[in-house]
Amino acid sequence: MNIDIERLKKNIIKIGSIGRDDTGGISRLAFSEEYNKAAEELKRLFEDNGLKTKIDPIGNVIGSREGDKDLPSIMIGSHLDTVKNGGLYDGALGIFAGLECISTLNDKDIKTNHPIKLVAFNAEEGSEMGGTFGSRVFIGTQYLKEEKLENKLTNYGLSMNDLKESTINSEDVKLFLELHIEQGGYLEQNNIKIGVVNGIAGITRYSINIKGEANHAGTTPMDLRKDALTMAADLLLKIDHISKSIGSPFVSTVGQLSIKPGAVNVIPGEVEFVLEMRDMDRKNIDYLMDEIIKYTNTMDEFQFKFDLLIDKPNVNTDPHITNVIAEICRNKRIEFDIMASGAGHDAKEMAAKVPIGMIFVPSKGGISHSPLEFTSWEDIENGTEVLLETILNLDDL
Ligand SMILES: [Zn+2]
Repeated sequence: MNIDIERLKKNIIKIGSIGRDDTGGISRLAFSEEYNKAAEELKRLFEDNGLKTKIDPIGNVIGSREGDKDLPSIMIGSHLDTVKNGGLYDGALGIFAGLECISTLNDKDIKTNHPIKLVAFNAEEGSEMGGTFGSRVFIGTQYLKEEKLENKLTNYGLSMNDLKESTINSEDVKLFLELHIEQGGYLEQNNIKIGVVNGIAGITRYSINIKGEANHAGTTPMDLRKDALTMAADLLLKIDHISKSIGSPFVSTVGQLSIKPGAVNVIPGEVEFVLEMRDMDRKNIDYLMDEIIKYTNTMDEFQFKFDLLIDKPNVNTDPHITNVIAEICRNKRIEFDIMASGAGHDAKEMAAKVPIGMIFVPSKGGISHSPLEFTSWEDIENGTEVLLETILNLDDL
């Protein structure tokens, strides 16, 4: 079934103009004035397309299209907020592709059995409450007992009651679908048009502290040093080597490192860095940590301390939904591949309570979170048509 790519284009560019700066980047940060303006505009747009629409207390925009029968909803969505100086497509594309599917159903006067709900989430990219806040609260996995949460909420003019009022009954949802840009270069490099996502990688972060001995840079001979930084450098290369041997989709990154005392003429006595690991298979993460600990145990001159900071398990998409999406691509003769997502998404939170499916479209150069983020209209058209057919297929009773 053909969608109207010109209409989709017009809508995404219209909302994309809110928060746009001189560099062409978009800053529609969660809870900002720009976000609220975009949410109001989006609500009007949803209503113009026949959706009964509300903005919940935490800023999620929810549009509903009635179904023929009294059944749980097919839900589609992604996030409306952006990072600072972000691009046009991250998040927004999933919302506007969903809207275009609904407008096409309206044009063709097609009624579905299930109601369809379209959700634009707030605060996926982050706020003081952490990433994917909008979807976590929405589906009810926000940890309500978290200490200090209430204080953080106050900074946004929110209360615990607002969270409660923003949480839906997950039994009213049959499944959740999210179309998103890949944010990596795999699809483009391999000339594949659609990524059918089979899961979203888990994230584990450790803080690793290495203690050696700070000393005078001029008077301490090389063989008498306990330089925590050269030890860290050695360990980082080891980590890189093991990580490469594990193979894709496993990735590990050290993007933050601090050196103490941090003076040009003092041998570093202490180094601390954060190691982040992502994979679909928990065993690989444990394997790397075991190897690191085994290796550091042989380094008698240094003391090592490992602190687990974050441990979020991977989630799988629903196998039936994944098969349906793949089958639609096959029938439409669109090049596709089954792949894991290295980035977290709202769908990952939704998966805690409902079956999910995800469709990736190519990102030019694998770039995102930048004004240079780009996906061609042709790829968007393909992806949106696959999304629409997925909805219709899963609507069957
Ligand atoms: Zn995103």
